[in-house]
Amino acid sequence: MALTRITGFRQDQDGDWIAELACGHTQHVRHRPPWQSRPWTQTAEGRSSLLGVEIECPLCDDADHAAKTGGGGAGAGLLGPADSSGRRG
Ligand SMILES: [Zn+2]
Repeated sequence: MALTRITGFRQDQDGDWIAELACGHTQHVRHRPPWQSRPWTQTAEGRSSLLGVEIECPLCDDADHAAKTGGGGAGAGLLGPADSSGRRG
């Protein structure tokens, strides 16, 4: 799992807190007890204590995986069809 850092927090239109990450992604940090208990999102002190903390970013993991498995075929156009005369079999 890819690690990143929390660089800030903001709220969405529903008042749920969103962590802004160093990698450019964001992650909801909802406080919905008893299912999701993140009481630290409810105070400025709690949020600031999480700034700079390393967390796992599943979005980065997906992007990383896609970059490694994608691609291929690059360079096919560089040699071009110019050499198609004469050299067969
Ligand atoms: Zn990320």
